[in-house]
Amino acid sequence: MPTTQHKDYYATLGVRKSASAEDIRKAFRKLARKYHPDVNPGDKKAEEKFKEISEANDILSDDKKRKIYDQFGFYSDQIDPAAAEAAARAGYGTRGQHHGPIDFEGFDFSEEAPGTGGSGSGWGSFRDIFSGMFSKERQAQGPQPGTDLEYQVNVDFWTAIRGGVARLEIQRQEICPSCHGRTTTGGSQTCPECQGSGQVTQMGGRMKFNIQCPRCGGSGKAQNACSTCHGEGVVYRTEPLEFRIKPGTRDGQRIRLAGKGNAGLHGGPPGDLYLIIRTGPHPVYTRTGDDIYITLPVTVSEAALGGRIDVPTIDGRAQLRVPPGTQSGQKLRMRDRGVVSATKEGTRGDQIVTVEVSVPQVRDERSREILKEFAKLNPEDPRESIWAKV
Ligand SMILES: [Zn+2]
Ligand SMILES: [Zn+2]
Repeated sequence: MPTTQHKDYYATLGVRKSASAEDIRKAFRKLARKYHPDVNPGDKKAEEKFKEISEANDILSDDKKRKIYDQFGFYSDQIDPAAAEAAARAGYGTRGQHHGPIDFEGFDFSEEAPGTGGSGSGWGSFRDIFSGMFSKERQAQGPQPGTDLEYQVNVDFWTAIRGGVARLEIQRQEICPSCHGRTTTGGSQTCPECQGSGQVTQMGGRMKFNIQCPRCGGSGKAQNACSTCHGEGVVYRTEPLEFRIKPGTRDGQRIRLAGKGNAGLHGGPPGDLYLIIRTGPHPVYTRTGDDIYITLPVTVSEAALGGRIDVPTIDGRAQLRVPPGTQSGQKLRMRDRGVVSATKEGTRGDQIVTVEVSVPQVRDERSREILKEFAKLNPEDPRESIWAKV
């Protein structure tokens, strides 16, 4: 960690603050000839002095370092040159020149000795203020994985049960075929974002900051954006997709097609494509999981006397035994007559039949007599249990 102790580099080199780069170079050369260890063998003071002027020259001969030093009275390579530039523009002066809204006078940067937990207090707060303001320019340019895509696919009742092929059109980002994701065509031009200045103005509250241009990184030069993808590196393509629907596919089931999502950027892996299956209805069958539900009318005599009746199943007609005395609303289970499971090998659901007793319309005298006779033989009151409870 570099020392933050205040040193007057201008005084060390014996130049004025307004000194040009040439003045500094000349001053350093002159002093270097005088204090160079080769010229002063064994002279500790000369050696020390040579170190000082070298350090001063190192900072002042570098335009970016000099700006930071001018601004804060010390140099640290942890300070972003763009932040120093912005601070300068905003008027965060040191040495009593402060007239910006944030007063740095209260922080004593020089007190922080290196390695004594000094990264906190003043230095830390200072860093925090700027890291918030300049997050935009530190956009990641590394590999970014592509995003996942999700599509809902409507599959009709029978395709979901028996399996088949579903087709749909998906829109996904693909690596640009012209620039292969590089976003540029290689040619160099003046950066359109900063018009070649390498800096752009950003608003921070009511203050204006000049920061390093995020487009060109301060170089002022930008490569020609690829005309196919307009510099995005990706293009949007609508493409037909055909995929297999497994027999027994359930409503709401998610199918993952790895790598079929949006393309990644800067060499990042592609995302995945998720297909959410929505199975269609059927006028007679209701499907819940692997079970099939059906409501089936039976006659009074079938319900009372019992018998075998034909029932529609997803595999065709099947016989169901109705026990004598079956009530309306009663559920009868037909084992393994449901959907062949897509997940549990060799198993299938049941068909659940809800019996609905169909009461006959009595139109002839003979039937009327029989029913009256039946009532006489069966005088029990079906409401008896209800009366008992009220
Ligand atoms: Zn630029
Ligand atoms: Zn392109």
